[in-house]
Amino acid sequence: MRIELLNTPPDAVETRIEEQIRPLSMDDFAGQQRLTDNLKVFISAARMRGDALDHVLLSGPPGLGKTTLAYIIASEMGSSIKSTSGPLLDKAGNLAGLLTGLQKGDVLFIDEIHRMPPAVEEYLYSAMEDFRIDIMLDSGPSARAVQLRIEPFTLVGATTRSGLLTSPLRARFGINSRFDYYEPEVLEGIIIRSSGILGIGIDEEAASEIAGRSRGTPRIANRLLRRARDFAQVGGQELISRSIAMKTLDCLDIDEEGLDDMDKKIMETIVNKFNGGPVGIASLAVSVGEERDTIEEVYEPYLIQAGYLARTARGRVATHQAFLRFSTGRASSDYPLFDVQQDQ
Ligand code: ADP
Repeated sequence: MRIELLNTPPDAVETRIEEQIRPLSMDDFAGQQRLTDNLKVFISAARMRGDALDHVLLSGPPGLGKTTLAYIIASEMGSSIKSTSGPLLDKAGNLAGLLTGLQKGDVLFIDEIHRMPPAVEEYLYSAMEDFRIDIMLDSGPSARAVQLRIEPFTLVGATTRSGLLTSPLRARFGINSRFDYYEPEVLEGIIIRSSGILGIGIDEEAASEIAGRSRGTPRIANRLLRRARDFAQVGGQELISRSIAMKTLDCLDIDEEGLDDMDKKIMETIVNKFNGGPVGIASLAVSVGEERDTIEEVYEPYLIQAGYLARTARGRVATHQAFLRFSTGRASSDYPLFDVQQDQ
């Protein structure tokens, strides 16, 4: 059985726990310093003018805090937030309903905004730019366009794939913020804060060990913390010590770099089966038995950041470092040397 620990979307129980530990203010939101410093300035300026904040695009891999920050933006603006996601907005009418219900300065949060159907996206353009929407009533000879005015609002869009956003949509965001993976020291602070909220003690060494294997991702750090809490509780301990943290990480098969079974399978496949690549994403997905989107959104960004994988125009390519670690049955003098041109 494979234990789903990775950066998959949270289930219902987990969502409840995530809500508990989600930071509610900029002060509790750790890391991403430059991004939050800039946002604080834009928020203060908008408040001074009494305007709605300009539209904000938040992009980056899952679990880095995009949803959390959207809620914090609304709270710092003193506004309400309405939340939806791209795939849920399957009809223009759904979007119109949400937009017309907004008060001045409210935040509309659209998660996975790159998955919004094109027909719905077009309605968003005039809403974002001129705060109006043109709706077609009826069809055939009696069809007529009705223009609805909406209150000035802030659209906060989140995406794991900013490259898939159309240029007209991207151009309508005045603030474009990219999330980076978190430094281990920042994750350590997040783990200590979360353990306080969950009511379990943790050694600094244990927090540091978990932080170092969390793939730079707060959602994973919090998940590993909760699993370590399980091991501590079952062992009758009130504190997560370093040895409990190590035991948890071993039992979950998470290595020193935070790589799990699927990461290793992807790299071993490219290195050994495809001789280092280039290999197309579709063939790779079939070979490892994982969804193409999941590979692209969850696994690849971290493998690229860790220096094992490169995306090139011809396909995915393993780096020299990947050969050193994942190659089986080949002398290192035989490793192919790729001239890697990284495409983002
Ligand atoms: P995303 O929307 O990018 O997938 P979320 O905002 O849902 O990520 O964050 C996942 C979890 O990680 C949240 O429940 C929150 O507890 C935690 N988290 C994210 N960013 C931070 C941060 N900067 N500081 C503290 N906790 C964070």
